[in-house]
Amino acid sequence: MEDKMIRLSGIIHESLVNGPGIRRVFFSQGCKHKCKECFNPETHSFDGGELRNMDELIEELKSNPIISGVTFSGGDPFEQADKFSYMAQRIKALGLNIWCYTGYKFEYILNNLKDNEAWEKLINNIDVLVDGRFEITLRDESIKYRGSSNQRVIDVKSSLSGGEIITLY
Ligand code: SF4
Repeated sequence: MEDKMIRLSGIIHESLVNGPGIRRVFFSQGCKHKCKECFNPETHSFDGGELRNMDELIEELKSNPIISGVTFSGGDPFEQADKFSYMAQRIKALGLNIWCYTGYKFEYILNNLKDNEAWEKLINNIDVLVDGRFEITLRDESIKYRGSSNQRVIDVKSSLSGGEIITLY
């Protein structure tokens, strides 16, 4: 990939709440979903945040041995799927598992793969997808890893190989 710059709204270096274990979280900048009462409205603009070099982010990640996984959050990582798929391939090579949040539904992503090579690469390189828009009327603080009960924590590899959606938690 020639352009190694990814637009991020932020990074949490060691998080315990964005998936299991100690995780590095990369927050994408840019989102089209406009969920009512979104927690992160500053992440919606496609020219906000800051551009970061992906190879440098991976080198920083490698230098912390206690990280057990990486989470892509947002914003919506699927709006920069070419960049996040590059990140995902390099992170998988380090043996770390990858979670990804998106406002798109898993079924919508699968139905649009043939026109979108970057989405295909991204979905094939992540382990878990937390899908769907945040719905304020379905907000539930008691559920793990999600903001509203319509969202699902999907085991991507089992779902793709088995032909039906397998959820975790
Ligand atoms: S998908 Fe996430 S970042 Fe985008 S509007 Fe909805 S809650 Fe906010």
